[in-house]
Amino acid sequence: MGMPRQNLARPALLLSSAQFYIAAMRTRNLAGNKASKSNIAKPGEKTQAARQKLPDPARVAEIFRRFQAANPHPKTELEYVNPFTLLVAVVLSAQATDAGVNKATRPLFAIADSPAKMLELGEARLQDMIKTIGLYRTKAKNIVALSARLVKEFGGKVPRIREALQSLPGAGRKTANVVMNVAFGAPAIAVDTHIFRVANRIPLAIGKTPVQVESGLEKITPEALKHDLHHWLILHGRYVCKARAPLCDRCLISDLCQWPEKPSLNQAAG
Ligand code: SF4
Repeated sequence: MGMPRQNLARPALLLSSAQFYIAAMRTRNLAGNKASKSNIAKPGEKTQAARQKLPDPARVAEIFRRFQAANPHPKTELEYVNPFTLLVAVVLSAQATDAGVNKATRPLFAIADSPAKMLELGEARLQDMIKTIGLYRTKAKNIVALSARLVKEFGGKVPRIREALQSLPGAGRKTANVVMNVAFGAPAIAVDTHIFRVANRIPLAIGKTPVQVESGLEKITPEALKHDLHHWLILHGRYVCKARAPLCDRCLISDLCQWPEKPSLNQAAG
């Protein structure tokens, strides 16, 4: 029931996603870069004041165009079979990698793909099945508690209401937005660590908190692109605009990025 099982072939998908992105980055100069030189940030323009103002709409549109051309149908890399298993996977993914979560959830979801079955499994056995994931004791406790709430208050279904999702144990604003986006196709932008970093660097939206960045992205993103932007930025942050060593020389939007610490490309632009 519910969601398609397209993400179950995960090892192949994970690899192809990464390879796809890197390939797209490598061929960026062949992909029809139509941005004008005036959009390229110069060292003198990279003041904090310049970065604080709303980004130039033409630059933003070109960034979105390139992400879309490189990956027209972006998807989450978390494996799930229905909205409930997606919710569990997102709760487990806090401070953990999608690959690590997927490894644990494959056998878990084979026996517990509904709130009732999760309650039947019980906290102790759940802990044992997810013990490779950080904070597994707290997460197991939250998953059992949210399963109980889903059974008691929502007829065993995952609600399609962000506020209701957000009120579940272990599920904050980010989790609620991811579930709304991925399970229900809503135009929700969930700001995780990757999106927070990438949005501040480029910048698309500058903020000191995820909520500020979410609000900034909401303002500049056309409704029709919000769903996909969430995934584009996560993938970009995961495979290219990495926290410690961003691959700026392979970046699809390097000439549009105004990050002052961007290596070498700054010199080229000057
Ligand atoms: S140029 Fe570098 S810092 Fe800017 S978005 Fe690309 S990878 Fe990130």
